Amino acid sequence: MRRISLIILVLILCAIGLREVSRSTTWQIMGDLIHHGDRNQKVIALTFDDGPTAKYTAEILEILKAHQVPATFFLIGKFVDERPQSVAQIAQHGHEIGNHSYSHKRMALRTPAWIRTELIKTDQAIRHVGYTGPIQFRPPFGRKLLMLPYVLSSDNRTTYMWSLAPEADLGTDATADQIAHYTINATKPGDILLLHLMYSHRDQVRAALPQIIIGLKSQGYTFVTLSNLPL
Ligand SMILES: [Zn+2]
Repeated sequence: MRRISLIILVLILCAIGLREVSRSTTWQIMGDLIHHGDRNQKVIALTFDDGPTAKYTAEILEILKAHQVPATFFLIGKFVDERPQSVAQIAQHGHEIGNHSYSHKRMALRTPAWIRTELIKTDQAIRHVGYTGPIQFRPPFGRKLLMLPYVLSSDNRTTYMWSLAPEADLGTDATADQIAHYTINATKPGDILLLHLMYSHRDQVRAALPQIIIGLKSQGYTFVTLSNLPL
C-alpha cells in the first residue's frame, strides 16, 4: 500500500514537472527560445496573439498608425485562410506577421508530422496574401514539451515567447486604466509585451493600447517588431 502511494506520488510530481516545463516562457528542452531583447536598450516589441478577426483588425491598425508604432501579429493559420483581407491589411501597414499554428490546438503532445503540417499550412496561408517579411513562431498557449522544440530546432526556427503579459497578471476584469498603468510601470528595456486584442471581450485591452503606447513613449521607449528587437 505504501509502495503504491509512493508510485502515485512520483507520477503526480512528474506530471506537475512536465506541466511546468511545457508552460515555461523562458526555457525549452532544445533549440532557441527568445523571451526578451537587450535589457540595456529602451526598446519594446508589441506582440498580439490570435486572429485576425475582421471586426477588430482595422481598429487596431488605426491605433498603431495614429501613434506610428510597429507591432508583430501572431496569427492563427485557419483564420488567415478565412480572412485574407485582414491579413493583407496588416501586411500593407508594415507590421510583422508571425505563425501561431494553424488550428490553435495545444502542440505539446503531438507528433512531428502533425506539428510540421500546422507550421507549413500557416506559413503558406501567410505568404498567400503577399506578405514577404520574416515569419517567426509562437506556440498556442505558449505550450511546448519535446516534439515541438525538436521540430523547430531541426527547421532552424526560434520559439518566440514573451516577458510581459498584463492580461495574465491582472485577470480578465481589469479596466483599461488598470491595464495601461500596470503595463507602463512593469515594462523593462527589451521586453516582449503580449496582448490579445482580437476578441470582443478584450475591449478593455484595446482601449488600454493607446495609453500604453503614449506612456512608454514618454518614458523614452522605441517600438520595434520582433525580428528587429536587439538581442
Ligand atoms: Zn493564442
